[in-house]
Amino acid sequence: MSGSDDSDPVDIRYDNGNQRLEVTWSDDRETVYGYEFLRWNCRCAACIGEGGYKGMLAEITELRPEQFRAITAMELVGSYGIRPTWSDGHNTGIYMFDRLRTLSDPDYSAR
Ligand SMILES: [Zn+2]
Repeated sequence: MSGSDDSDPVDIRYDNGNQRLEVTWSDDRETVYGYEFLRWNCRCAACIGEGGYKGMLAEITELRPEQFRAITAMELVGSYGIRPTWSDGHNTGIYMFDRLRTLSDPDYSAR
């Protein structure tokens, strides 16, 4: 782990009923992210592009509901991130814990 913020997640829950991901951190902070927000923040090559390719997110103004309806699986990537599988089968995006700490979903940041 690098950087000044070395807090780690102690609990990660995803709630398909409310379409939100909840993380409890080792400093007792809790963060919540809506699925649609998370999907927009996918940083994989297919979503944000690579080289000369712009990526899917640059080409659209709205996500299709099936792209963020549910998380069907969640995989831990080493000790540094999570890799969700979305309801449309998309699963190439890794969300690093360092980045999740700094991501703030405006719908859930009123605390
Ligand atoms: Zn992606």
